[in-house]
Amino acid sequence: MKILLLDIDYTTFHESTPRPFLKEFLERVTGQYNVYFFTAARHQRITEVCRILYHQLKLSDDIVQKMNRYSLSRDNCPMISHRTDLGGYIDVKCLRKAAEVLGVDISEILLIDDAPIYDNPDRDYRIQAPGFSGNPEDKYLLTLLL
Ligand SMILES: [Mg+2]
Repeated sequence: MKILLLDIDYTTFHESTPRPFLKEFLERVTGQYNVYFFTAARHQRITEVCRILYHQLKLSDDIVQKMNRYSLSRDNCPMISHRTDLGGYIDVKCLRKAAEVLGVDISEILLIDDAPIYDNPDRDYRIQAPGFSGNPEDKYLLTLLL
């Protein structure tokens, strides 16, 4: 099975609010992909949102445990520094590092992320998500299922 990596902040969650249809989305795609989170935050953030998946969205223990165990954060997958147009640096995710950590070829991975692509050479393996800021009417995840 291919791996589907989901960004957390502004893609699947806003703070502790899950994006609408996240439960339906996860229940559907876990039959087709190994689904894990990929966040530039610490692993603690993964644990927080997994608790919400389990307690609030009532996703099955199987799905949540696997996600919590194999998800990628800056604690187990190094970020890379990207120089912005303004001259500062920001940490961005590197899909090649993710593939290395997961022990698969990059072509086996798909990432859904709201972050700008910059000059990322791995754009073929990404789906650009519109940012989620807590709007309860948001239907983006539903449109992915149709
Ligand atoms: Mg994000």
